[in-house]
Amino acid sequence: MTKTENNGVMEAVISLCKRRGFIFQGSEIYGGLAGTWDYGPLGAELKENIKSLWWRRFLTSRNDMCRVDAAILMNQNVWKASGHVSGFSDPLVECKKCQHRFRADQLDATNKCPDCGGSLGEVKQFNMMFQTHVGAVQDESSVSYLRPETAQGMFVNFKNILDSLHPRLPFGMAQIGKAFRNEIAPRDFLFRAREFEQMEIEYFIRPPKDENDREWEKVFAHFVSEVKAFTSDVGLNPEKVHELEVSDGERAHYSKRTIDFEFDFPFGRNELYGLAYRTDFDLKQHSEFSKADLSYYDEETKERFTPHCIEPSFGLDRTVLAVLTDAYTEDELGGEKRIYLKLSPSVAPFKVAVFPLLRNKPQLVEKAQQIFKSIKKEIPATAFDDNGNIGKRYRRQDEIGTPFCVTIDFDTIEKNAGVTVRDRDTGKQERVTEAELVEFFKKKF
Ligand code: ATP
Repeated sequence: MTKTENNGVMEAVISLCKRRGFIFQGSEIYGGLAGTWDYGPLGAELKENIKSLWWRRFLTSRNDMCRVDAAILMNQNVWKASGHVSGFSDPLVECKKCQHRFRADQLDATNKCPDCGGSLGEVKQFNMMFQTHVGAVQDESSVSYLRPETAQGMFVNFKNILDSLHPRLPFGMAQIGKAFRNEIAPRDFLFRAREFEQMEIEYFIRPPKDENDREWEKVFAHFVSEVKAFTSDVGLNPEKVHELEVSDGERAHYSKRTIDFEFDFPFGRNELYGLAYRTDFDLKQHSEFSKADLSYYDEETKERFTPHCIEPSFGLDRTVLAVLTDAYTEDELGGEKRIYLKLSPSVAPFKVAVFPLLRNKPQLVEKAQQIFKSIKKEIPATAFDDNGNIGKRYRRQDEIGTPFCVTIDFDTIEKNAGVTVRDRDTGKQERVTEAELVEFFKKKF
């Protein structure tokens, strides 16, 4: 696809999201608030499905992880210890003529304003944390920040987890929650927002005994394959997912190894997730700044040490964007152009939609309601749709990515001939008996 076609895909996805109730611009009726997005009913379902798959893979299907849900507002010293107060910044440059601001590292070498061609001022470091004050007094001591990542909420609870659950190494803490970054240039829809959600894991392991102890590499490799497995859980095309080994010079100073998982978005290949071996940097920093003892005592070996940490970090909204852009499809069906979302049933907001063939025939509506209720009992993400004619319903369900539509017609009632089930991707219909219906879907999913 050409670049223009790809930009066309972004526009088409954004417009579908608004038209069908997936995602809206934040504060839209007031002209919006840059870098914020509101999830509508369908988007919220899609996002929830992604979260459930994540919890299933990284929490409930294993026995070495615990879930936490830490506060967004934290003591300002957390961010001093983590290095965010001094170092969480992007280079900012302002045009002397139009006063527009840009990220200096994203401009070309001409050093001219991309908006008006004016000359640019000096580069300054801009801290991306949203600052606020806690309580009625606004002074230095009341400063707090909206967390720019969920990770620190786990490190600061490390001791609480040890004291309350007594887990044995290796073990992980997992969290899903909001993060906030005052990005200089929010862009590309959900890709770079100012308010977004992260799904993060801090996985604690024994420190290496010496330079030759490469045990950590096994855990790292395990998470490489688990991250990839998760991208297929949500239905992403594996050919669009790439691993990028971050070089020594580009890694954060505390990381001994980092892999970025990139995805082929319509606007280019960009970071989707990250995996980093953070060593004992975070626990050591918090020990030093808080004076709390964040070491671990091994009952078996009678040793005390500070564990090392491997961190898989996932952007939830970037996952939503990857899933939507990957699923967006235009084709022709029955001689007509159509748009549909080829969503995996695992993430689709609705798995099945049930219709009466005609909405003004009470016997069809009644039967359709009865079948709808019996499917919904087993497959909760089932919709009932009797708006407009059948063609419009198919188009609507295709656009929101519903894998199967069930139609109740006169043969269902008069000849006991079952219902028609239409497959979203092929448009093909087959008759399935009422008794076999739920089993039929369960097999498909
Ligand atoms: P980038 O280089 O794209 O700014 P990052 O390396 O700063 O990302 P991390 O700090 O590693 O990102 O954050 C972990 C994950 O959070 C990212 O892989 C991404 O999925 C997500 N993320 C980070 N910043 C944003 C943002 N502004 N909007 C949406 N998601 C984000």
